[in-house]
Amino acid sequence: MTSPPALNSLELTGRAATHVVAVEGLPVLLHRDVVAPFTALRAAASQAGIALLPVSGYRDFERQRQIWNGKYRGERELLDAQGRTLQAASLAPPALVEAILTWSALPGASRHHWGTELDVIDAAALAPGARARLVPEEFAPQGVFARLEQWLAAHAADYGFYRPYRADRGGVQPEPWHLSYGPIADGAMQALTPRLLEEALAGAGLEAEAQVLAVLPQIYRRYVLNVEPVSAAALAAVAVSPPSRPS
Ligand SMILES: [Zn+2]
Repeated sequence: MTSPPALNSLELTGRAATHVVAVEGLPVLLHRDVVAPFTALRAAASQAGIALLPVSGYRDFERQRQIWNGKYRGERELLDAQGRTLQAASLAPPALVEAILTWSALPGASRHHWGTELDVIDAAALAPGARARLVPEEFAPQGVFARLEQWLAAHAADYGFYRPYRADRGGVQPEPWHLSYGPIADGAMQALTPRLLEEALAGAGLEAEAQVLAVLPQIYRRYVLNVEPVSAAALAAVAVSPPSRPS
């Protein structure tokens, strides 16, 4: 089996969508080589009574820039690590940048740019009319997605997926709903260098650009590199085929 071509610098930083495709019946775009493993993962989940629904897949640089600028300008809700509302206008730029990074990726540095990442819920676990909030409590033992949490822990690696933000590592807040396709994401993370990020950000219309570029190496270490390492099991699952359905 040949390995897929590596993502180029525009694809790595969300400035091109040449690596992603639509997924039939789902509201997300994914890397073309992630569609089959994710379809297999969904089929297996379905057999366990879990309706694995992606609520976010590929996101581009421009979308991430709008989120960033909206939070910086106080136009979007800004939360601290404990989930309390912060007033953007009351924070000095370094504190404001850190607050945004607690919950939102720096444009160019979002793993969602790669098409290998998905935020998922179990649609079958939600009460009629209820909406997922994507908070860690939902994935706790008493939470609405406790079964999804257990199922992913036991089976995601069989299909090449793992969860880079499962635990609090002092960077990005825990996001147990965030799945990553290890065989491609691992290479993307190694290819995404601070230099490439700087090239994507310079002159791109980002609020606090000078502040961000001045501390880019620290941001890179704390928020890009500081993730759960991909498991050997997920890396080994490069060749997956959809499970056979019981007839
Ligand atoms: Zn995510």
